[in-house]
Amino acid sequence: MNLNHQALGFWEIIIRTRPLSNAEISVQGYSKCVRQESCQAITWTGHPESRFTFDVVADENVSQEKLFKVAGLPMVENCMGGYNSCMFAYGQTGSGKTHTMLGDIEGGTRRHSVNCGMTPRIFEHLFSRIQKMREDGKKGVYVENLKEVEVTNARDVIQQLIQGAANRKVAATNMNHASSRSHSVFTCIIESQWESQGVTHFRFARLNLVDLAGSERQKSSGAEGEHLKEVSFNLGVGILTNNLELLLVIINLVSISNGKSLHVPYRDSKLTFLLQDSLGGNSKTIIIANISPSISCSLETLSTLKFAQRAK
Ligand code: ADP
Ligand code: MG
Repeated sequence: MNLNHQALGFWEIIIRTRPLSNAEISVQGYSKCVRQESCQAITWTGHPESRFTFDVVADENVSQEKLFKVAGLPMVENCMGGYNSCMFAYGQTGSGKTHTMLGDIEGGTRRHSVNCGMTPRIFEHLFSRIQKMREDGKKGVYVENLKEVEVTNARDVIQQLIQGAANRKVAATNMNHASSRSHSVFTCIIESQWESQGVTHFRFARLNLVDLAGSERQKSSGAEGEHLKEVSFNLGVGILTNNLELLLVIINLVSISNGKSLHVPYRDSKLTFLLQDSLGGNSKTIIIANISPSISCSLETLSTLKFAQRAK
């Protein structure tokens, strides 16, 4: 597939289809619920067939390296220019979010593993571009129990990623929750410093890399369930997603960028509150909506395509 590397805009939606798993092939063969049309179009082949277009549609053959070049590199460059950036991996559990954001990190950086994902590649690239990197807890939103760690090279970052992924698993088990219920947010503050005419200038940018909780419908009941149903119905797309608050923020931001004046409900969820500095305005946002091509995931895949469509 011939994806181009040109710089993406400030608001980008990327679809990524994972390959069928061996288990899926053994049960239902090679039939799929989606058909790739081009590197910007995909058709959901259920009834009725629905065609969707996006900035990028990456099929199962798009490598980790390729996706990094298309989506990760422009983000790093944007942050180095002093602008905030956010990348979200969205999709049902098992669709490839963690594969996209982390991938195989045990094997180290990309020089060692072709399957290592976006985050380690981004840091590898950052460290090759900058002399200095430090953490700074005094800017932005404070998170209780947040652990801050100073890192000086890409290997340190990968150690933290491995640790973070392990903590997430332990926390999920202890709370008797599926790990699909938690978001993983990795934030890095990039400070640039330069001299001109004897004056030192500083510039800060936040880079947020977010592996969202699984988007599959939650069995919410009572008032909360009713509220979610109503909101979902009002969106007119029939999506009942676990990340509805994020979608509401996104929809309002998209309307604002189209000239409407609206309140953005950042405070409606911890995630959007945490990320409010980095969403909208001059910030660059990339949503990678991960989908499974399996027939058994057909309805969730349609729901994700609709979410991504609504977030355009
Ligand atoms: P999620 O984080 O959305 O629950 P995972 O990233 O854990 O999903 O992916 C589920 C499985 O599918 C994993 O075994 C993963 O390695 C595999 N997988 C996902 N995306 C790809 C891909 N693009 N290429 C190869 N394998 C993939
Ligand atoms: Mg995951």
